[in-house]
Amino acid sequence: MNQLLLDSRDTRYVLFEMLAVDKLNLYERYSGHDRQIYEDTLLLAEKIAARQFYPVNAEGDHAGVRYDRANKTVTTPESFKPAYQAMARAGFIGVSADPAFGGLGMPLAISVACKEYFCSACGSLTFYALLTGSAAQLVHSFGTQQQKKLYLPEMLSGAWGGTMCLTEPDAGSDVGNVKTRAIPQQDGAYTICGQKIFISGGEHDLADNIIHMVLARIDGDPPGTRGLSLFIVPKTIPASGGTAPKRNDLICTGIEHKMGIHGLSTCTLSFGENGQCIGYLLGEARKGMRQMFQMMNEERLFVGLQGLAFASAAYMHAAAYAKNRIQGKRVTELTNPEAKQTPIIEHPDVKRMLLRMKSYTEGMRILTYFLAKNLDVAALNRDEAGREAKAMAELLIPLCKAGNTDTAWDITAESIQIHGGYGYCQDYPVEQYARECKILSIVEGTNGIQSIDLLMRKVLMDKNQYNLTIFKKKVRETLCMADDLVDDKYKMPIQDALEKLDDVVAHLFKQLASGNLSAVFGQATPFQKALFMLCMGWMHLWNMVVATSRLNERTKTAAGYSPHEKNKDDSDAIFYRGKILASRFFIGTEFPKYASIAKALLNNESALIEADASVFPGTLC
Ligand SMILES: Cc1cc2nc3c(=O)[nH]c(=O)nc-3n(C[C@H](O)[C@H](O)[C@H](O)COP(=O)(O)OP(=O)(O)OC[C@H]3O[C@@H](n4cnc5c(N)ncnc54)[C@H](O)[C@@H]3O)c2cc1C
Repeated sequence: MNQLLLDSRDTRYVLFEMLAVDKLNLYERYSGHDRQIYEDTLLLAEKIAARQFYPVNAEGDHAGVRYDRANKTVTTPESFKPAYQAMARAGFIGVSADPAFGGLGMPLAISVACKEYFCSACGSLTFYALLTGSAAQLVHSFGTQQQKKLYLPEMLSGAWGGTMCLTEPDAGSDVGNVKTRAIPQQDGAYTICGQKIFISGGEHDLADNIIHMVLARIDGDPPGTRGLSLFIVPKTIPASGGTAPKRNDLICTGIEHKMGIHGLSTCTLSFGENGQCIGYLLGEARKGMRQMFQMMNEERLFVGLQGLAFASAAYMHAAAYAKNRIQGKRVTELTNPEAKQTPIIEHPDVKRMLLRMKSYTEGMRILTYFLAKNLDVAALNRDEAGREAKAMAELLIPLCKAGNTDTAWDITAESIQIHGGYGYCQDYPVEQYARECKILSIVEGTNGIQSIDLLMRKVLMDKNQYNLTIFKKKVRETLCMADDLVDDKYKMPIQDALEKLDDVVAHLFKQLASGNLSAVFGQATPFQKALFMLCMGWMHLWNMVVATSRLNERTKTAAGYSPHEKNKDDSDAIFYRGKILASRFFIGTEFPKYASIAKALLNNESALIEADASVFPGTLC
């Protein structure tokens, strides 16, 4: 359909050939679905994304959202509305949401794959849907039956939007510093008073109402995160018990002018300027952060997914461009004056960039869908399998969020490089992808905060290092599967890396035990990068196992032919061959970087600890 967004063949390969997501139908919860339903849903997502989202992507960037100061309203680009409605009407806000409230009730892994189409087609428009889905999920997990009935059908149908309101001027990464107040009223509701900044989708015209999830502190509650509660604060209070809908006392006082995602409104919201902003407690008082954290797993997965989607679209555009841009001669024809000019894809350096982009994009796709499937399995089982899936998800969440989004920045930059000067201009959307993907390393907990979460909570402080033990066990299982199928050249680096990981963790433990917190925290990001690299290597080894088996099945009866010769018109065989080449390239040329990061982690370099603020320029203002 649209060859510029993502490789649909790869989506099917990862979902069904690697992860067997359709086998989740053996569980009661998914027994109503089958492979065909998933295929139809994916196809519909692709159709709407390619035909209605991709065409509005440039307008979203150029026109952007507009703020009307007099009315305090935000207008989205005209073309956004029909596209958004088409996606919402087809059920894509709540692919994995509860069917009792209007969701499609499919596994998260299918939801993630559907949403990859929309994210790669128009990132800014998809943001509204992702936020609404996340806000709805919060209501589903912690709301009363009445709250679920009131809000969920409207949110999941796209009639109402949703937001997450955490950030304030003095509370960015330091969420515990939130100053927004919640004052209890006699009827059980609360009056909300405060200012939130950077709120995505805080005000817009894509929906009739917007349901804000607001972190605030009930008067008298303790400082820090343990005193925070979560509130449902509707823009318009819905009609109930004979009362008419009522505009709540909250306004948008401005929008940000950003580097990218211009089609997404990023708003400053003022709650209760007239002392009349009504909010309703969601879940338990003082459990707001804990509730948010439970939901953050899914939200961070979706941010990682956005990273994958931007990288994928950038890669697909680069591959198409490189096949069509004619420039220079093939290296083998340099001395031939008669030689014709060649498409740039034939230049080894361009092919190198493409293979690198392909290998990262495909590795991230396996990681992201695998993580989603682990969350599915963890939600379905309380037994050993469920515990292991939960441990895997715990560890993979910060890796997927931080690793994918940092890689997206790298891959989108590489796409600009392949487009040459045209890539730096607005002739192609790749410069837009680069500008837009950068925000992903900042929202939902910066990548620095993700790395600290990974190293401290998920590894060093994790009881008996259960998460890491399960991770290593799963990697070893893949090494066993690779035994007869994959050359030692690609297995040994992964095997060695696992051993090196033990050294690194033991070293960091020692530093922690000796109270050298600055050294430990200072190494969180390099540790995250090393583990992400190991994850990518693992995903590629696993891919080699599956793709090699598939390719062997197709070439078994190839007497008298070389496999390549026999399969030259077999699109599946070409696909598997491409998969194997990408994995060989990754393990052979990118994966050695793991060893150098591990070496640096073990180096005991203390410059970071010795460097105090005085060695840097800049003065306090
Ligand atoms: C386009 C956009 C959309 C957004 N959407 C939303 C939204 O919908 N809802 C919402 O609530 N917020 C939203 N945000 C806010 C976003 O979540 C914050 O910007 C983010 O949490 C970082 O906070 P900050 O900007 O105050 O940076 P700071 O917290 O000041 O961080 C600055 C730097 O210091 C580092 N740092 C800070 N504290 C620590 C620490 N303890 N240890 C190590 N490093 C640290 C950070 O990693 C970062 O590199 C959005 C922001 C933008 C730009």
